[in-house]
Amino acid sequence: MTRAKLIRHGKSSQGLLKHKTAMYEAKARLAQRNDDIAAVYLIQPPRSQCKNCASPINEKPTFVSHGIGYLECPTCGHLNGAHEETAAFCDFLYTRDDGKAYAQAYTAEDAAQYQSRVQDIYLPKAAFLSEALAGEGVDYRTCAVADIGAGSGYFVAALQQHGFNPVTGYEVSADQVALGNRMLSGEPLRQYPADATETTLDSLSARVVSLIGVLEHVLSPRAALAAIAGNRNIEFLYLSLPLYSASVAIEAAFSNIFNRHLGGAHTHLYCERSIRHFSAEYGFEPVAEWWFGLDLTDLFRSLYVTLAQNPETAALSERIAAGFGHHVDALQQSLDAAKGSSKVHLLLRKTAR
Ligand SMILES: [Zn+2]
Repeated sequence: MTRAKLIRHGKSSQGLLKHKTAMYEAKARLAQRNDDIAAVYLIQPPRSQCKNCASPINEKPTFVSHGIGYLECPTCGHLNGAHEETAAFCDFLYTRDDGKAYAQAYTAEDAAQYQSRVQDIYLPKAAFLSEALAGEGVDYRTCAVADIGAGSGYFVAALQQHGFNPVTGYEVSADQVALGNRMLSGEPLRQYPADATETTLDSLSARVVSLIGVLEHVLSPRAALAAIAGNRNIEFLYLSLPLYSASVAIEAAFSNIFNRHLGGAHTHLYCERSIRHFSAEYGFEPVAEWWFGLDLTDLFRSLYVTLAQNPETAALSERIAAGFGHHVDALQQSLDAAKGSSKVHLLLRKTAR
């Protein structure tokens, strides 16, 4: 019997926007951080292989955005930054000062803010996972989940609160592990060394492994997928991936506006074709998909800030806030429905174990 695949589109941007307000306010600091990362990224060796399918790619960049060249892989469609992420680059990004610099960008100021972030952003992800698993005949209340790259444990907290049991989070930054374990019951977060992603994945006994905004940050996504494919305990892989979407073009067009999506720690982006490629290669099939993005939010922010910065157009910025600003969710919905969103949540099942 074939079951209907769970496919969902769209999501109100309001929960996220509430938390992104702080991000808008901190955009100068974040833009500086992106510039610092770009300076280190640009001195890395040129990329010779696609990050997703390992096919050789050595043509000229397809386009340049915020000073960085990007190449579309002719084999799988994946969007690759023109430079290689080296261990030194990842070290600069995630483990410098034992993760303090990275933890700073994400650390909640207090428990209330932590919980609010869990409720608004992470609980819907946990609810979608439970619904998707139910469609596969899996009872989430007895389903062990290992969350990789757990950060301060927001998704682990959401899984616990939704009723998943047991839940364990694995995180490289000792600071984030300490912060998360203070916020969570049962100290479910464990620290692992940055160079031990594959051995950590090899050793898991959980039935579901989640990588929420993580696969795009690991040094070798292919090695991580191969380790998950090779671990016979793991049956499902829950992913949140950033996509090669309209946000990319919006950011390239507005070169003075903070690039949230492509740039900084995001050096490569997935697309439907590149996801299909790695799924076929490593033996996964999608059983549930949730497409939603922030493309229209990015467009609105870029227009608003650009217009507001120029005295000749400043009045127009308020006009579009009162008009276009109210239609961001509805406009995004139609992009999401066409799978044109900046992000996708996917539940993949192994085709063989
Ligand atoms: Zn490729």
